[in-house]
Amino acid sequence: MIIPVRCFTCGKVVGSAYPEYVKRVKMGEEPQKVLDDLGFERYCCRRMIVSHADLIGEIAQLG
Ligand SMILES: [Zn+2]
Repeated sequence: MIIPVRCFTCGKVVGSAYPEYVKRVKMGEEPQKVLDDLGFERYCCRRMIVSHADLIGEIAQLG
């Protein structure tokens, strides 16, 4: 499953920031802080990334 390039709600580009988000969370940073850093202030965009990351995490654990 590929993350949508843009937020469904507001149209902000989220896909390009997603790899950075995953990398930093894996390094141990707080997901909320990373989202703030990347400039995702609206909950619609944060939800796009966070919900997608949860799915990836579950898939990754299977491997
Ligand atoms: Zn949005």
